[in-house]
Amino acid sequence: MTRQGEAASGSARRPLAATASALFLLLASLFALPNTATAAGVASYKKAFAQLAAFAPDPSRVAAVHGLSLKRDLATFEFVDGQMALFRPVEGRIWGAVFTGRGTFSFRPPTEIERDQLERFYKTDSLVTTFDALVLLFADTTLVELASRAKFVPGTVAKKAIPVMRKTLDTFLDQKSMDINYSVGKTCLEGASNELFLAYIVEAHAGNAVIFEIDPFQTEQVQLYRVKPMPFQKRFENREVICQFPLEADRERGTSPDRDFVDTYEDEHYQIQSRFDGGLRLAGETVVRFRSLEDGQNWLALVLDPNLDVDAVQWESGEPADCFKGPDASLLWVRNDHPLARGEERTLRNRYHGVVVQRQDDWVRFDPGASWYPRVISGRRSTYDLEYEYPESYTLVSVGEPAAPERKGNSVRSTWKVATPIAECSFMIGIYKEHKIQVETIPPITILMSESAHRQVRESAGEELLEQGLAPGKSMEKQVGADVANSFAFFQTLYGPTRLQRFYVAENPFERSFLGVAYPGLIHLDWSTFYSTVSEGSDEMLRAHEVAHQWWGSLGVVPATYHDRWLSEAFAEYSALRYLQDASKDNKRFLDALQRSREEILKNRKFLLGGGQEAGPISLGPRTSTSTTRGDYRIIVYEKGAWVLHMLHNLFLDLDTMKDGGFADVMREFYTSFADKDATTADFQRVVEKRAGRDMSWFFHEWVYGTGIPHYRFAWHAVPEAGGKYKASCRVDQENVPEDFQMFVPLHIDFGAGKFASVRVFVKGPHSEFDLPLLPMEPKQIVFNDLESVLCEVEAVGW
Ligand SMILES: [Zn+2]
Repeated sequence: MTRQGEAASGSARRPLAATASALFLLLASLFALPNTATAAGVASYKKAFAQLAAFAPDPSRVAAVHGLSLKRDLATFEFVDGQMALFRPVEGRIWGAVFTGRGTFSFRPPTEIERDQLERFYKTDSLVTTFDALVLLFADTTLVELASRAKFVPGTVAKKAIPVMRKTLDTFLDQKSMDINYSVGKTCLEGASNELFLAYIVEAHAGNAVIFEIDPFQTEQVQLYRVKPMPFQKRFENREVICQFPLEADRERGTSPDRDFVDTYEDEHYQIQSRFDGGLRLAGETVVRFRSLEDGQNWLALVLDPNLDVDAVQWESGEPADCFKGPDASLLWVRNDHPLARGEERTLRNRYHGVVVQRQDDWVRFDPGASWYPRVISGRRSTYDLEYEYPESYTLVSVGEPAAPERKGNSVRSTWKVATPIAECSFMIGIYKEHKIQVETIPPITILMSESAHRQVRESAGEELLEQGLAPGKSMEKQVGADVANSFAFFQTLYGPTRLQRFYVAENPFERSFLGVAYPGLIHLDWSTFYSTVSEGSDEMLRAHEVAHQWWGSLGVVPATYHDRWLSEAFAEYSALRYLQDASKDNKRFLDALQRSREEILKNRKFLLGGGQEAGPISLGPRTSTSTTRGDYRIIVYEKGAWVLHMLHNLFLDLDTMKDGGFADVMREFYTSFADKDATTADFQRVVEKRAGRDMSWFFHEWVYGTGIPHYRFAWHAVPEAGGKYKASCRVDQENVPEDFQMFVPLHIDFGAGKFASVRVFVKGPHSEFDLPLLPMEPKQIVFNDLESVLCEVEAVGW
């Protein structure tokens, strides 16, 4: 702390006689503190953690509170009647307060999407709840506001305050691993004055808790959480976000964030050495070059797997750095040797060891989600120099351009270089059979299959798998290779060339539910797709989906924020569908796959409407999956998202010639304009509108930002007209969508004897009636929504 801070702490340690006026003096001096620019921050993580973990109400600062209100963005706290105690000061600073008594919390999100989200969880679009206990944590002006409106004097702290304090602490720190929520940790360690404000609200009667937070390190600072014990997560992650949006000042600016986090550092380059011993234990050394994006930063956090222990951290001079990572913690905190100025560049050398790769029989598993090297929070795109050393019985592949591997005794040393910045870095090691594919038009492909491990599985569990209908496939490396090479070539024609020089596909027996993960030039595919190819196309699609991420998501176009995640997953899924259509040379498997996904999307809604929770829109990204809507990220962002692209494709289709009509150009232009850049949904909409030559906001509003899926009831009848022609009249009732919902729907008119025609009709509102253009002969059948063009339910009814 600064000298002013120390002076303040001196006055704060005065015995109980501290009067309100002394407190005001303290407050005045606290807020006269210079910002983080010159503050030295806390001297030691351990000490700071111990102080935070010991946050407690201060019996020398207790106030009776009546009718006090606090407003933070769109949240209002009314402290009707009760007692408020400030926290005991830490190094002269008061970080929070605890209230017991009677109060109300009200909150109304600013947008329809977020109000709908509140509706899904709480059946109301503006939350008003009474509370009987509440804990505040703040780095903003709350203390000044409280002290000017309540008189804090020595008193007895209500008993109820203590357990609520404990529960609050549990939501941002973990005593055992000494891990701490990044935003709270960074603020407290720096001793920063920023917008951080956290309220842990215990609802009266039900006893449930909600958290309202303003997190200055996220671009959508305003957040509402419900506290929910969730398995397999750290205690302080036992909460799920319900609403999230930018602060008022940012909302008024009218631009949506183009990233999720507010970075205070930029990681420029990583030099990573990873050595695997005979037991595949990792000993690593990473040199990271980073730049400070703010003035006066004292603390840096790096993400590093809980299974990795840090041995040493040094500055470029060789001087040891003051750092801390708790046992099983996921953050490594480093104290800068002096407050870093904006633009200042530093280099840190980290040594660490532990287990991120496991071997069982001949299976080698690597969790691609593991933070296998220390990475500056919240790293974006960096260049890499990678070096691996491993026993010669293994094969290792990595992202980057490889140099010829060298032998070193019984080990192999290989180096890889990533010269153009990438967002995610990975490798894979295993006992592999290699299958190389050389085709002129695409980069060389290497398929790595765990052949000996498959043999072991066939011997030990082959019969069991057979009973489940899984017969081992033949030459699986070739089956996988064919889909990878064919889809690669197909996407290259569809979207344009990638800058990849080579492409690796490595088998990985995943433990978690995902089946494939993509990195630039390297994809991990689950063992199951190397065991057999199931007939309905899901294996072809899985392989092609991960290949497509070389255009959408991993390399090429990268989604800017979580709202834009569909630009990666839906685009990959849609590409996979197109590959299925192209590979099978007929529309049936494509239409069947679309139909299956439509049924899944509709079933999801129906099941949920029958008692559960309705699915959110595509633009909520990963937030569509919650503890009550677990599979929704896949169903909404992947599957409904792919449908959205399919619908756009069909809107561009020329029904007379069945030619593309411009959608292929949309995808190519979007890819070439945003390759190696971050893209938002709005960027994509602009390309669509440019090619369509018209405003398409209605379409994005309905399908990407909205949740409606229309149910159409369709009736038609035809009467003869002069000259042998026929007049066909149609009637459409539209349900399950907002009143103004509109869509273009193709009709297939079948005249029999192989003669047919197609028209596209515009359907808007609950009820529409229209006549088709005069038909040359009598229609035998009119099919509404031909070719699965619109994601909807159609019910044919009599006229
Ligand atoms: Zn994917």
